[in-house]
Amino acid sequence: MRTLPIGLVTMAAVALCVIVMGAVIVVVTRNGPAAAGPLVWPLTIALLLNLAVILEGRRRHRELARRLRHQLDSTEGARRLSIKDPLTGFLNRRALVEEGAAMIQDAAQRRLAVAMLMIDLDRFKTINDLHGHAVGDSLLARVAAEISSELPPLSLAARVGGDEFGCIFAFNPADPQTVQRIAERLVSRLACPIDLGDTSIHVSASIGIARSDQERASIETLIRAADIAMYAAKEAGRNRFSWFDPEMARALHARNELESALRAAIPAGQIVPHFDPQIDLATGQLLGFEVLARWQHPLQGQISPDRFIPIAERTGMIADLSKSVMRQAFHAARDWDSALTLSINVSAVQLRDAWLPQKIIKLLLETGFPAHRLEIEITERALLENLALAQSIIGSLKNQGIRVALDDFGTGYSSLGHLRALPFDRIKIDRSFVQAIAADPDSAALVGAVASIGASLNLPVTAEGIEDLAAETRMRALGCARGQGYLYGRPTDAANTRRLLAERRLLSAGTVAAPAERRLAS
Ligand code: C2E
Ligand code: CA
Ligand code: CA
Repeated sequence: MRTLPIGLVTMAAVALCVIVMGAVIVVVTRNGPAAAGPLVWPLTIALLLNLAVILEGRRRHRELARRLRHQLDSTEGARRLSIKDPLTGFLNRRALVEEGAAMIQDAAQRRLAVAMLMIDLDRFKTINDLHGHAVGDSLLARVAAEISSELPPLSLAARVGGDEFGCIFAFNPADPQTVQRIAERLVSRLACPIDLGDTSIHVSASIGIARSDQERASIETLIRAADIAMYAAKEAGRNRFSWFDPEMARALHARNELESALRAAIPAGQIVPHFDPQIDLATGQLLGFEVLARWQHPLQGQISPDRFIPIAERTGMIADLSKSVMRQAFHAARDWDSALTLSINVSAVQLRDAWLPQKIIKLLLETGFPAHRLEIEITERALLENLALAQSIIGSLKNQGIRVALDDFGTGYSSLGHLRALPFDRIKIDRSFVQAIAADPDSAALVGAVASIGASLNLPVTAEGIEDLAAETRMRALGCARGQGYLYGRPTDAANTRRLLAERRLLSAGTVAAPAERRLAS
C-alpha cells in the first residue's frame, strides 16, 4: 500500500520531467532560448519532484538494509544459540554429533584417528546441594575454561549433560600417548581446588576415552563407548580416566541384566537372610547373629551382597530389599533363645529416610521381635552424608530401645567427635584390620587404639573377620568384647541356623516344630 503513491509520484515526476524537457528542447530549437521562459516553473517543479523521489528512495534503501541486517543478525544468533551452551560457550550435544561426524570423516581421509573424551564431574550434585545452583553454574563455566585450556587446537568441546562434557580431537593413531597425556593433565587440573572468588571448591572428574580407529565408529558409537569408559573410571574410584575396552560394554550389559533380575527377585523372596554368629570373646558364649543378605538366584546360585547391594542402593531398591530381609530375619528368630540378638546392616541410602525408625518399628510389631534384641549397624561413611539426619534417626531408634553400632570402624572418616556426638552402643572394627594385623604392625596399633577408644568411651568393641585362634587371642588381648568370623562358622540360612540352635538347646522352650512356611518376602 505504501509503495503505490511513491510509484505514482515517481512515474508522474519522470513523465513531467520528460515532457517538460522535451517541450524545452522543441521550443528552444524552434524559437531560440528566450522562448523557453514560460517552461521554467514546470521544469523546476519536475526537478524538485525528482529530488524528493531520490531522497525518499535513499531513505527506503537505508531502512531496508537495516532490516535485512537485523534479520541476518537474529538468524545467526538463533543458529549460535541452537548449537552453543550459553553457560559455558561450548557446543551442545547435537552440534557435537554433527561436527564430530565431520571431524571423524576428515581425520580418516588424512589417516588420523579421532579421540573422544567424556568428562564427568564427581559428586557434582553434592556441590550443587551444598553451595546452591549459582555456585554450581560458576563452577561449570570455570571447569569448561580449564578443559579448553588443555585441549589441542581444532578440538571440539561440548557440554552434553548437566556436569558432563564431551571433547573430540584428531591424533596420530600410532601415538595414543598424546591422548593419554591430555587425559592425565585434565584429571590433575580438575582435581585442583577451583577458586570462585567467595569460595574455593574441590571437585574432581572421571574421564572415559574412546578412539575412532578401534571402535570403527560412527560418532554415536564413539560417544557411547566413551560414556561406558567414563562409568568404568567412576567405578574404579573416580578422579581418573580409562580407555574404552569392549569388555566394559559386556560388563555393563550384565549389570543391567542383574538390575532387572534384582527388581523381580526382591518380591519373589529370592533375597534371604543368612546369619553370622557373634561370640563373647571372654566366655565363648553365642550372643547373637549379624544378618547378611544373600541372593538365591534360581540359575546363578548364590550371589554375594557385594554384587547386588550397590545396585540396590543406586536404584533405590535397597529400602524394599532391606524390609524384606529384616521381615524374614525377625520371623526366623521368633522362637530362638530370647537372649539372642540380631544385628542388621543399614546402608547410607536408607539413612536419608527420616521415616526409617518408624518403618523398622512397624516390622518389629508385625513380627513380634522385641526392640531390645535388635541392633542396627551403621557404617562410618553413611554418617558423613547427613550428620544431622543420622543423629535424629539414631536418637529415634534408641528411644525405642534399639541399639546402634558403628560398623566398619577405621575405614571411613569418623572422628572422636562423631563418636561423642552420636550415642553408639558399640564399635565394630572392620575385618580388613583384624586380618592384616598379623602382617602389619600398623594395623595392630590401630586395632589397639580403637579398642582403647572404645574403653575410654565405655563402648564395647566387636572384632569382625576372626578366622583362627591366633586372631581370637589377639583380639581378646586387645580388649575386644565380641568376635565374629569364620572361626565360629560361616554365615548360614535360617533353616541351618535353627538346626544349630536346636543342637545347642538355644530354641525357646515349647517350640519344637519348624515355623510354618510363609511368604515373608516383600
Ligand atoms: P559387613 O557388614 O562388613 O559384613 C561382614 C562381612 O564379612 C560379610 O560379608 C561376612 O560374610 C564377612 N565375613 C564374616 N566373617 C568373615 C571372616 O572370618 N573372614 C572373611 N574374609 N569374611 C568374613 P558379606 O556377607 O559378603 O557382606 C558384605 C557386605 O555387604 C557387608 O559387610 C555389608 O556391608 C553388606 N551387606 C550384607 N547384607 C546387607 C544388608 O542386608 N543390607 C545392607 N545395607 N548391607 C548388607
Ligand atoms: Ca556389618
Ligand atoms: Ca565390616
